[in-house]
Amino acid sequence: MTSTPKKFAVIGNPIQHSRSPELHTSFAKSTHLNITYDKLFAEIDAFEQTIEHFFHTGGQGLNVTVPFKEHAFQRCDVLTPRATIAKAVNTLWMENQKLYGDNTDGQGLVDAILTLKWPLKDSRILILGAGGATRGVVYPLAMAGAKQIVIANRTLARAEQLIQDVAPALPTTTSLEAIALDQLQGSFDIVINATSASLTGDALNLPATLEFSYAYEMAYGKPSTFLDQAKARAVPTSDGFGMLVGQAIESFYIWNGVKPALKDFI
Ligand code: NDP
Repeated sequence: MTSTPKKFAVIGNPIQHSRSPELHTSFAKSTHLNITYDKLFAEIDAFEQTIEHFFHTGGQGLNVTVPFKEHAFQRCDVLTPRATIAKAVNTLWMENQKLYGDNTDGQGLVDAILTLKWPLKDSRILILGAGGATRGVVYPLAMAGAKQIVIANRTLARAEQLIQDVAPALPTTTSLEAIALDQLQGSFDIVINATSASLTGDALNLPATLEFSYAYEMAYGKPSTFLDQAKARAVPTSDGFGMLVGQAIESFYIWNGVKPALKDFI
């Protein structure tokens, strides 16, 4: 007799572009689990009703994407430390009638970087951008051993605010600093582009005096002036597809207790 499949979905608006169903379906295949994973569209003002209906009709877990990550954060009864720090939730599930929320984006990035065999322990990391994605990755990068994290943002005040919010949760072995994007300087192991410049086709200019050994672009499937400049310096580069797969694997692991190997899917 075949078992009833466990039911999962990703909720967003818009949602058609999401690659989560194909990823989760491949993970289920590789781990021999019986699941369904759908795209769930919600009207902007109907997020709560949509997730309630999903869980009341047998749903086991939801991924949350734009624009509902902050809304999901507000709605959860129980949050993991990394979701609390990120102030955003991308993974939901029910336990004892309570809605649990986690944020797996940062661990996804850490796992992607480790799979590339780039160094994180005792590393000096420069992150460009201070939006939601940066907020989600600072704590996991620090926990993975980064000794210095500098956040450079076009709007300096936003980077300063992010640091104020996140600093109390970080290990004392990690130093944190905010700088303006037009003041880029220094020497780093890894530079991470967490601005949305590549999505809008805007150029990012990295000064010649800025030194780095590896370059990670969080966006994927888009031309990136950031990656072009890094490639011109002949340093190893990556786009954000590994991070996308990494966060999906971490959600899959939370829900199903098995962790597919990231290297098998990138
Ligand atoms: P947000 O909108 O929250 O933040 C955008 C950031 O980009 C802000 O810091 C903003 O600066 C900066 N920015 C925007 N345009 C420019 C520009 N032209 N020049 C310089 N800085 C600019 O976006 P997110 O943090 O959610 O996402 C950031 C990136 O990360 C996107 O490319 C997104 O696709 C990617 N991402 C990838 C994931 C993956 O799994 N691979 C997961 C999550 C995000 P300011 O504050 O001054 O406006």
